[in-house]
Amino acid sequence: MRAETARTEVLLASDMHLPAGPSEYRDALHALLDGPARQAHSLFLLGDVFEYWLGDDVSGRDHADTLHALERCAQAGTRLYFMPGNRDFLLSDHLLARHGVTALPDPVIVALPDGPALLSHGDQWCTQDQRYQRWRRFAHWGPAQAGFRALPRPLRRRIAQRLRARSQFLGRMTADDLLDVQPGAVEHAFATFGIQRIIHGHTHRPDTHAMRGGTRVVLPDWRPGDQRYLHAGSDGLTIRRIG
Ligand code: MN
Repeated sequence: MRAETARTEVLLASDMHLPAGPSEYRDALHALLDGPARQAHSLFLLGDVFEYWLGDDVSGRDHADTLHALERCAQAGTRLYFMPGNRDFLLSDHLLARHGVTALPDPVIVALPDGPALLSHGDQWCTQDQRYQRWRRFAHWGPAQAGFRALPRPLRRRIAQRLRARSQFLGRMTADDLLDVQPGAVEHAFATFGIQRIIHGHTHRPDTHAMRGGTRVVLPDWRPGDQRYLHAGSDGLTIRRIG
């Protein structure tokens, strides 16, 4: 009898920006969930998986097939974790739980096969834009979220269409998305959390930076013809391409 191989690998990905409806990115995420993620111990989705989330009753329907792809992967034994980004933070914890996905706070320390890391979406460290940080505090305020969710569905869709042109969180690549993190804010996080490695997305500047305090790894955003994720094994971190 052959012993079952223990799953030890961890996968991390973010910033797929899946639109509602069929897309290359949706196909790539489903290929990840039905393929490499099935051999992994866990998959961490670190925000902006969805281009926007207008509430579970609207966007849950738009993305029903992706929710089911997540559920299939969870049922196959992979632990799935979701941290909201600045575009999909209205996705509720209980909808995630219904599909076998655990919601994570931002930031959170996890044990990767080669050592610990602080995981975050990353927008909290774009501190040079105070207008954005004010918006972020408002958007994460419970009553503001409840108020938006309570609006009629057609109105939420209209607001999304209206905002898409110029918005803080609904446009494809707004000025907010193009900001980089402030090194001082990240260095402060290294010290506060007593950690030497930070992994985040959001900035669409995939890279590895040696900083005062530790290493900062920026996850690859998904681009046409090029969708990647981070693989964490006992030998360290590598970027892998889907397909
Ligand atoms: Mn983002």
